[in-house]
Amino acid sequence: LFDFKIILGKNGVPVAENFRVEQSTIADTIQAGQVRVRTLYLSVDPYMRCRMNEETGSDYLLPWQLAEVADGGGIGVVEESKHQNLAKGDFVTSFNWPWQTAAVLDGSLLQKLDPQLVSGHLSHFLGAAGITGLTALLGVKEKGHVAVGAHQTMVVSGAAGACGSLAGQIGRLEGCSRVVGIAGTDEKCSILVQEMGFDAAINYKKGAVAEQLQELFPGGVDVYFDNVGGDISDAVIRQMNQNSHIILCGQISQYNKDVPYPPPLPPEIEKIREERNITRERFLVLNYMDKQEASVLQLCQWIQEGKLKVRETVVEGLENMGAAFQSMMSGGNIGKQIVSISK
Ligand code: NAP
Repeated sequence: LFDFKIILGKNGVPVAENFRVEQSTIADTIQAGQVRVRTLYLSVDPYMRCRMNEETGSDYLLPWQLAEVADGGGIGVVEESKHQNLAKGDFVTSFNWPWQTAAVLDGSLLQKLDPQLVSGHLSHFLGAAGITGLTALLGVKEKGHVAVGAHQTMVVSGAAGACGSLAGQIGRLEGCSRVVGIAGTDEKCSILVQEMGFDAAINYKKGAVAEQLQELFPGGVDVYFDNVGGDISDAVIRQMNQNSHIILCGQISQYNKDVPYPPPLPPEIEKIREERNITRERFLVLNYMDKQEASVLQLCQWIQEGKLKVRETVVEGLENMGAAFQSMMSGGNIGKQIVSISK
């Protein structure tokens, strides 16, 4: 059993030491409707930072409680079942998987997974074929206004992360003519260009983002997939065209600050946004779950056809959940950060 304790103050940066591991036993008999599962993979995601606040900023996110087991996206295998639709050996997932190596769960809260869809690569269901893939695809489709033949230009911030690395590739697949990523290391930038088909990438920790954007987009930016907010986004918005679109996916640069979501733009940038009629609507993937099934099939097809390149950064062991979360929040991952719990 994974137990944790939160010791963050206002504007605190979460660290691995905010979590602790505890050993405990789980019931050895299960009730009707329940299953016993062994955990295979767990996900760490930026939204978990909000769950470390009493006020999470969203009605759909409950705060983690002190000294109780944390939870999030997870995948496991059924070892014993008293649920009519689940059998021993089935692979299952939930958004609220407890951070435990094994658990007794209510079978009706689990979704069954088809490993063939991801060619046996089950952890993809937490990334490219899961919520992050859906976020990238549905963000582009619902808020990007991307049209085949329109030759739109696109910028992605947080471009080498789970959502960003897919969003840029999907922008291209949906018809964008030029896609540029912004990420935090030279290695990430080179993977974006050489492996994932981005036209160029900017390392925001080196040199001025604004000047590089001006050089790369003399005709301006039409679509901005925004994962980070803050100074990077201000620089992109300055370069955006009349009637262009921001896909407001996330604002990770602001998550350790005590600001509302979405954080308001600085007055000068907000003025540019209004004058140029740039849309910046809140996007939340969970509002589009009626499109989940068809979208997962689309993502899996692109992955199988080699049209969507997928990266994961995997660490092993339940005891490393806190370290994996801290690392992901500070740029240690390329693609989706996964924690492998058991084989
Ligand atoms: P991720 O991008 O895989 O990991 C987070 C990345 O953010 C890090 O690797 C780091 O990369 C970058 N980062 C951290 N601090 C930064 C800062 N101050 N400035 C710029 N970049 C920073 O995580 P993800 O799961 O794909 O999530 C990406 C964004 O999507 C987050 O904002 C998340 O909240 C959002 N999201 C939204 C939805 C939705 O429904 N709207 C769903 C899922 C995720 P660098 O090395 O490049 O700094």
